[in-house]
Amino acid sequence: MLRIRRIYDDVLPVNKQILAQVKDILRSRFTGIKESEIELIDEKLRNPFKHRFRTLFFVAETLRGKVQGFAMVLLEPDIGFVFLDWIAIIRGYGGGGLGDALYDRVRREAQALNAKGIFFECLPDDAQDCPDKVLLKENRARLRFYERYGARPIVDTGYETPINSDDSCMPYLVYDGLETQKPLRKAFVKKVVRAILERKYAELCPPEYVENVVSLITDDPVKLRDFRYVKPESAKTDIGSRSLEQIAIIVNDKHAIHHIHERGYVESPVRVRTILAELEKTGMFVQLKPDSFPEKHIYSVHDKDFVNYLRRASADVPEGKSLYPYIFPIRNKTRPPRELSVLAGYYCIDTFTPIHKNAYLAARQGVECALTAAQEILDGRRISYALIRPPGHHAEHKAFGGFCYFNNNAIAAQYLCAYGKVAILDIDYHHGNGQQDIFLHRPDVLTVSIHGHPSIAYPYFSGFEEERGEGDGEGFNLNLPLPEKVDGQRFRKALTKAISRIEQFNPQFLVVALGLDTAKGDPTGTWSLSLQDFEKNGRLIGVMGLPTLVVQEGGYRNRTLGKNVRAFFKGLADAGPEWTKNRRDISNRIHGIFFRHEIEEKDCERIRRLVDITGFFSSSEIKVAAELVEERLAKGLESGYHFIIAEHYGRLVGYCCYGPTPCTVASYDLYWIVIHPDFQGRGLGHKLLKETERLIKASGGTQIYVDTSQRVQYASTRAFYEACGFHLEAVLEDFYGPGEGKAIYCKTLVP
Ligand SMILES: [Zn+2]
Repeated sequence: MLRIRRIYDDVLPVNKQILAQVKDILRSRFTGIKESEIELIDEKLRNPFKHRFRTLFFVAETLRGKVQGFAMVLLEPDIGFVFLDWIAIIRGYGGGGLGDALYDRVRREAQALNAKGIFFECLPDDAQDCPDKVLLKENRARLRFYERYGARPIVDTGYETPINSDDSCMPYLVYDGLETQKPLRKAFVKKVVRAILERKYAELCPPEYVENVVSLITDDPVKLRDFRYVKPESAKTDIGSRSLEQIAIIVNDKHAIHHIHERGYVESPVRVRTILAELEKTGMFVQLKPDSFPEKHIYSVHDKDFVNYLRRASADVPEGKSLYPYIFPIRNKTRPPRELSVLAGYYCIDTFTPIHKNAYLAARQGVECALTAAQEILDGRRISYALIRPPGHHAEHKAFGGFCYFNNNAIAAQYLCAYGKVAILDIDYHHGNGQQDIFLHRPDVLTVSIHGHPSIAYPYFSGFEEERGEGDGEGFNLNLPLPEKVDGQRFRKALTKAISRIEQFNPQFLVVALGLDTAKGDPTGTWSLSLQDFEKNGRLIGVMGLPTLVVQEGGYRNRTLGKNVRAFFKGLADAGPEWTKNRRDISNRIHGIFFRHEIEEKDCERIRRLVDITGFFSSSEIKVAAELVEERLAKGLESGYHFIIAEHYGRLVGYCCYGPTPCTVASYDLYWIVIHPDFQGRGLGHKLLKETERLIKASGGTQIYVDTSQRVQYASTRAFYEACGFHLEAVLEDFYGPGEGKAIYCKTLVP
């Protein structure tokens, strides 16, 4: 079985392995490709804005992580198009259809990103443009492949104009109009072609060439070549039902086997049916079957003996009977009793969650649903929903209770966190003690829970504000306990607090433990949330713009349960348009920035790359920047160069170089201050400068000088210094060249 997933960066070890395989595929499939181009892939992922394109990467891999193919795509968000850079499949792949699966995925993603279409290059399939017979055959197959989607080369534009007079075999520019297939406007194509040539082929295309090619686009609309290989009516342009914007719903179809027929046992099969009946009316959901996953995913958050116990004890209970714990050892968990019935009290936290013939099987299936839903998120879906029972959020590492056996949301979060940081937001009426316990010591999974205060609500022994996580996990658990009477407004106040903590944590994925027992009239709760409140809550969460996996927890008032779930998802999905906008805002806040003052061996190359990436400095300036690092490494403080390195989770994102001005008492020169393009305009420059001033002051410095050019392109640099309290001290006219003066700024440090 293959899955296609999006790779976000090369920071995680698992992604590093994937990218290594991708590079091997490139080497084996494209002979003659330059090694430097291959190595650029990491950088493109890490520095999405370097070429003013965002790089999206999709790999098709087996469940064991063996890459079978991939697609690399550049998104231009302002003009609104996607450029397909690479699509490749391993040599000898026998499965068939993988190219389609990858290209389907690219189209779905382009549609979800509101791109007006996909552009890419294909080598010519006309014999006069391509004298090589073998190549010609390949080119024809490739253009036939894309024509099946309606994608064809643009014609009569001059895109194929040779750069050098002896160039032959110039590629066509192919356009896929996705579902709409609207006429291709001239102005749009001009912008697209300019962006491609200037940004992607900057080294190859001189400015006159770009101007010439752009000026040759004269038809409006720009024409596409007639269909050559397939009948126009058989081209399948639709993306529709497979849209990633639909919410995937995965239902535990084995849930009904778990049915405790006892008075007052409110956690019953009708809950799932009620919810499903409401959701089916909306057309917002697409129902998927659960996949199977190995048991190791359960062990990844639960104690093995505990899991084995549940399996054995479930199998042991006679049909129709329930085993309730009847003795609870004082929590001495080092010496478990042997008897299965006595062991129940060793593993359970209360007296109302029995072991039952099918409890294990139903819970096991619930886990598979949650994992399938998590997989959908990895596959690029924005929202997925595991509609399951029994619920899971009270199940701890080594304990069950509160109708819960396995912690579905924690298992899914653990699965996702191999691909990026995860936040779990628990909005059930009861405290999410399970995931708190499981991730208590970990900083890579943030657990947040809004719930009835433990003084009035189950589980009574946890959920207090002061439980903030332990060890490395300190500060990564947030409990927001609320009083007995809470309405929608009061709840949203807490929810807003929870959301701001999550945004500060800046996760890649969000898991929502969705309980509806906060609703008015719920038999297990005391609050009074209404239908409108659930919709508002959904919207608030949706605006965060995170890929969101929703896992069903509690909610027992069957009259309103389904409607409330529906309202929640309506809010969550409607936040979509705001989401794209907000995505940018979120990325504008920086957390995890650390300053380091000691320079290390590795910094030399990293600083050279950073200075280069900004696109602001000439090659000789880049050399100088690196030389200063080398000098500092060789001579230490004697070199007169001091550095402050700004790192974001270990990645170099900015630095500053300064030092005492020779032959002065207390003057300092600021030589370099460089900020990574991803972090510009986000306050990092100010922070870095502040830190520099602090250190200069501490070593007795009283003023700082900095030089910059008077050229127009340095206007923002000058504005930056002025905003930081520097004033223009002198101008040396024509210093750098005719008309290019040197501006000297100074800041006096107040002791
Ligand atoms: Zn609950």
